[in-house]
Amino acid sequence: MIKRKGTRKNKRKKDNNSQSGHTLKDVSSEMKNVPFSCIVKPVGARCNLRCEHCFYLDKDELYEPAPSGVMSDQLLESFIRDYIASQPPGAREVNFVWQGGEPTLAGLDFFRRALELEKRFAPSNMQVHNSLQTNGTLLNDEWGKFLADNGFLVGISIDGPEHLHNRFRPDAAGRGSFEAAMRGLKVLKRNQVEFNVLTCVQSDNSMHGGEVYDFLKSQGAAFMQFIPIVEHLDGPPNPLDPRPPESENVFRLTERSVSGEQFGRFMIEVFDRWLDNDVGSVFVQSFDVFLGLMLGYPSGVCVHSRRCGRGVVVEHNGQVYSCDHYVFPEYLLGSLQEGKSLRQMCDSSYQCAFGMAKERNLSRTCRECSFLTLCHGGCPAQWTDRGKHGEYGLNHLCAGYKMFFQHALPVLQAMGQALRNQRPAAEWKNYYTGVPETGAE
Ligand code: SF4
Ligand code: SF4
Repeated sequence: MIKRKGTRKNKRKKDNNSQSGHTLKDVSSEMKNVPFSCIVKPVGARCNLRCEHCFYLDKDELYEPAPSGVMSDQLLESFIRDYIASQPPGAREVNFVWQGGEPTLAGLDFFRRALELEKRFAPSNMQVHNSLQTNGTLLNDEWGKFLADNGFLVGISIDGPEHLHNRFRPDAAGRGSFEAAMRGLKVLKRNQVEFNVLTCVQSDNSMHGGEVYDFLKSQGAAFMQFIPIVEHLDGPPNPLDPRPPESENVFRLTERSVSGEQFGRFMIEVFDRWLDNDVGSVFVQSFDVFLGLMLGYPSGVCVHSRRCGRGVVVEHNGQVYSCDHYVFPEYLLGSLQEGKSLRQMCDSSYQCAFGMAKERNLSRTCRECSFLTLCHGGCPAQWTDRGKHGEYGLNHLCAGYKMFFQHALPVLQAMGQALRNQRPAAEWKNYYTGVPETGAE
């Protein structure tokens, strides 16, 4: 049983007319052909740190009567069997994404069992991939060896050098977690575990984009993800009806939230540092995504996809939610414990409506924007602002996205042209015209 916390009441709406002219039924069947993925939380929201900008910590309070434990063996087995069986016919690979809270709190034996079950249920011609998102503080060489031996891709959270990382990432005793995270990073490097660094961009470190980038690079990070923190006091906008609570008439954000301009400046500083020396040797996820979109590839991230809703969360107790940013009672799709299959839940009419709401409820300002094909309005969980026509549903980060596109687009387009000519992106200068094909409004 779960109780409501930290969100306003969002009513599920019946709406059968999409603005693109397709009915919900049409798009639902289209959505069902898109493979889905699961983020699994083996210990729920439980974490050894108390990061102030973590949107997941208080999820523990959703569960009654006891705080979350570890996913049971029985549930783990049902989940792995079901997830593998839910892959589209002929699928040759499946990805398990282990996240938290802090998933290493589940212990190594939990993951050893998970791997045994993956081997047992996956057909011999299916490749199984595992990734783990961790704060790194509990890693030791036993973990390092296990992760390396089993080909895990590890995401480790580091928000910059010590003074920036420690600003919002204390442990349970209130001490900064930087040193412990650095020890974890050393474990990964020593054991040659494939890793990327995930950096939360909040109001504080957002003023230091170049410094953060230089630091991560100095630590050997060759793959970087920058995640803007937009933290709600009353729960995120409902993509199906992105209006603020009537009592407030605005979406209230915490002071730790990064503003659009701050995020834009941060990403521009990172981009300029990267451009100076690191094109082709350091990979920044969003730059890759924008480059891919310009070349006609689908977005590798839901945030910049036309639709979303194909990445659900599986909680430690078997409950399945629409998205990592929507682990609230209103977005509960069902439970593996009730015998519902993941495919049933992911293909339910509610989840299809949730996924297509991003396209259907996109603000008029976004629809008219010349950056739409790259941005796609960003994540609906950040649709807290009003657009230029006064409409609800504009992304809080819009100003930052625009700043970044205006700055980086001519270079990204030159890189795209180099790649189309079978040349490395690093040769972008040979293709640079300085004129963006897509201009600002
Ligand atoms: S709501 Fe945001 S995070 Fe969730 S699937 Fe959509 S774009 Fe992704
Ligand atoms: S840049 Fe702003 S207006 Fe344009 S698509 Fe993105 S969020 Fe919408």
